[in-house]
Amino acid sequence: EAEVALVGRSNVGKSTLMRELTGHDFDTGGNPGVTRAPNHYDWAPEDFVITDLPGFGFMSGVDEDRREQIKTNIVHYLEEYAENILVAILVVDGKSVVDIIDRHSGPDEIPYDVEMFHFLRELDVPTVVAVNKMDKVDDKDERLDELCDRLGLYPPWKQWQETIAPITAKKGRIEPLNEAVREHLHEQQRDDL
Ligand code: GDP
Repeated sequence: EAEVALVGRSNVGKSTLMRELTGHDFDTGGNPGVTRAPNHYDWAPEDFVITDLPGFGFMSGVDEDRREQIKTNIVHYLEEYAENILVAILVVDGKSVVDIIDRHSGPDEIPYDVEMFHFLRELDVPTVVAVNKMDKVDDKDERLDELCDRLGLYPPWKQWQETIAPITAKKGRIEPLNEAVREHLHEQQRDDL
């Protein structure tokens, strides 16, 4: 069955977004394995299974080895199911993502979000970056332009609305994400004709 996959670091609001998309309650924080939960969401005109992959990054009580293991599991899962994944949603925290990327950029370090974005592109999985917690961001356009720059997308962000979707999951403001996902789905339907 067709699948939409959600990926993102811990605490970016993935569970909140899942709840918003599906109307169900999830507790993803406690499950560091890769699970395929049969969570249906109707992205009219089609419906899909949404897979919530475990959060990655700092989690209290989880050591470095375990974190690497989780990351490896996520990468393997995406490789294995790439064919089946119609759209991937990379969830980031709009308030902190640029700072975190900059802090982790160096000669031998690639920030997780940047790495994941490029990895999904390599797999040919259409990817939407859901920039969450926009309610906490004052200079929205500037922040989104910076994010584009870090992801290798030429600013301004407004020309990337199929890829960059600013949302506030907590308040149910996720229309830009719905739009972006729909665009990708329609594109694929056209390609299939
Ligand atoms: P997860 O670890 O990625 O599943 O993140 P959660 O969904 O558990 O959310 C982490 C924290 O961010 C919680 O305190 C949420 O209430 C908060 N949060 C989620 N979405 C938003 C949002 O759109 N705006 C704000 N300000 N906080 C949010």
